[in-house]
Parts: sequence; structure tokens; C-alpha cells
Amino acid sequence: MSHLFPNYARRPIHLVEGKGTVVTDSDGKSYLDFISGIAVNCLGHSHPALIKALGEQSQQLWHVSNLFESPEQERLAASILQDTHLSRIFFCNSGAEANEAAMKLARKYTGKHSIITFEHSFHGRTFGAMAATGQEKVKQGFGPMLPSFVTVPFNDLESLTAAATEEVAAIMLEVIQGEGGVNEITPDFAKMITDICHDKGILLIVDEVQTGIGRTGTRFAYEQTLLKPDILTLAKGLGGGFPIGAMAGTDELVAAFGPGTHGTTFGGNPLAVRVAQAVVDHIFDPVFLEEVNMKSIYLQKRLQEVFQDSPFQLRGRGLLVGVDCGIDVGPLIEELQESGLLAVQAGQTVIRLLPPLTVSIEEIDEAVDILCSVLKEKATVS
Ligand code: PLP
Repeated sequence: MSHLFPNYARRPIHLVEGKGTVVTDSDGKSYLDFISGIAVNCLGHSHPALIKALGEQSQQLWHVSNLFESPEQERLAASILQDTHLSRIFFCNSGAEANEAAMKLARKYTGKHSIITFEHSFHGRTFGAMAATGQEKVKQGFGPMLPSFVTVPFNDLESLTAAATEEVAAIMLEVIQGEGGVNEITPDFAKMITDICHDKGILLIVDEVQTGIGRTGTRFAYEQTLLKPDILTLAKGLGGGFPIGAMAGTDELVAAFGPGTHGTTFGGNPLAVRVAQAVVDHIFDPVFLEEVNMKSIYLQKRLQEVFQDSPFQLRGRGLLVGVDCGIDVGPLIEELQESGLLAVQAGQTVIRLLPPLTVSIEEIDEAVDILCSVLKEKATVS
């Protein structure tokens, strides 16, 4: 009998070791990890720089409270925010927590309550983040949701115009909806949101928990759009496998988050901050990001070649790629796993590929070959 709540549909393999893109299970079988802990292990498994950072910090100091000053948090915040219009950060432990902080800050600053979010979005599973999430299945059975959330169709100009009243504190969105099916914001919609926020004094919260930290080929995905978030949330890739989240905001918002307004015991823990600093130092290097873009172009090109005669659709940016198969992909994901490729579902019909940003061209080739062999029976694949 298990002593764990069965709230995860766990796959029946036990992964015991990882190096780079490859993970090995307790039977000694190896897999190409194109899940990366769902966009977490951005530098792959056992990256020497992260092992060094964690090892050194673990010899020095594990935890002090936010009762004390932290030059390390200051340095990490400065590295994350360099060359952006954002100037402040609050560190926490997860994506949902970063979004909770974002929503609290937006409400406190504006003095308004309502937050607009989008269908198929995912923002986490705490009470506020769950209410913000645009997926019924996430909310089922938990009773009445927190009020003041309005969910409208993504990329639908008319519905957003109707919802964006003077009562609205913030619009919250993902630039690419990761969990919801790898759905990208359209340029028209990004422009409209920018105009509406400006005209109506509405704050823009961009949730980059999945898309941030180089995943889409730029430091943040919003940099590839017209969007200029007032508040930006991060987690997942920020710690490369060590839990950390962050909420960033503009200088204008500072007064609304004074002492005592918000906090968390473990936020900005020295171990997490040291590892995240190593992650950011690596990934925000323009040469590294250029390589991510080069690998992304290669992956997309190979997938396009393989699926050109199939009804499958390719979506995504950088190394966040979705293959929409138009059918329930649960069984296909299992077959891929049996063939040595770990991928994860997005929505019902999409196979999501999230390799480490350090993935090699040879590993991309190997993964595409596995995808091709597993999917060839489902469609006419060359
Ligand atoms: N926001 C987005 C866009 C996510 O993809 C996720 C997790 O998948 C979350 C928020 C929640 O993050 P966490 O699971 O760290 O609470």
C-alpha cells in the first residue's frame, strides 16, 4: 500500500540518475529526457556549475530568515532584471506562489479586485492561482472559487474588450500557454492588451513560470512580443532543479509591498539563490541563448520535414515545442517512453517537448527519429 496521496498519475518507472539530457531508471534503462522536470532542468542533469554552486553553499550556510539582509538575493535580482524595465524582485519557492504574490500586489497597488485571465491558461493550484487558471478540470470538486476572476477566450479581441472594465486590476497571461496546449499569443492580441492596459490603468501580469529563463530562446518570452509586463513571474527553470520562484515588478509598485505586506519563510533561501545565480549566469549569456535558438531552428526544421505530409501541427518557440496530433496523445506518450523518449502531454492532443537547453544536435536527431517511428502509424509520416 502506498503512503502517498494519489494526486499524481505517476508513470511506473523510477528514475535514479541523470547526466545532461539522459536519465536512467532503476532497471538501468536510459531515456532522452525531453521533459526536463517540465521545463525545470534547463541546464540538464548534474550540470557541473550547479553541483559546484550547491556544494559550496552547502558548506557555508543553508538558511537564514528574511529578517536579515541578503546581498546574494540583491545580486541575483540584479542579474535577472538587467536590461529590463523591471526593477524589483520578491523571491519565493514555486510558480503558484509567485503568481499569488503577483495577484496580491496588483490588487494592493490598484485598490481594485478583478483579474482577467484566459481559457486554457494554467497558473498553479493554490486558491488564487487555481481561480485564475482557465481550465475547469483543475477546479472541479473544490467548491466556489475565489470571486473577482473573469476568464475569457485567449486571443479573442472582442471578449477581452468587453471584459476590460474600469473595475479590473490586472490582466494575467502566459505568452505561450504551456499546460493548455502550447498556444501562443497572437501579435494583434499582444498589441490590444498593451493598449487596453495603458488606456484603462490595468496592470499586466505575465506568467513566465514555464516560458522564462531562456526556454523560448530569449531570457523571457515577452521580449519577443509587444508586451511590457508590470509584473513578471518566474519559477521552474530559474533554479535548474532547485526550488525557487520569483515575482518581479516595476519601481512604481514598490510602495504597495512595504514591510509586513507579504512574505515566506524559505523565499530566497541561500542554497536556492546560489544555484539560481549559476543558472542565470549561464543562460543569460547571449552566446548560450544564440545556441538555444540555433537548436530550436534545427528541431523545428527536422519536425517539419518529418510531419510535412501529416495532419499534425507544430507549435511553440525555442525549446518549448508542441506537436498537436489531433487525438488523445496519452497512449503515444507511453509508446515514446517505451522507445526511450520522455515527453509530456499538453492539453489533450499535444505532445510537448521540453529538452534541457543544453541538448545536443545528436540528441535532437535521436529524439526526432523516435517520434517518427512511434507516430508513423498514426499519420503518413515520411
Ligand atoms: N504557471 C505556469 C505557466 C505553469 O506552467 C505552472 C506549472 O506548471 C505554474 C504556474 C505553477 O507552478 P508550480 O507548480 O511551481 O506552483
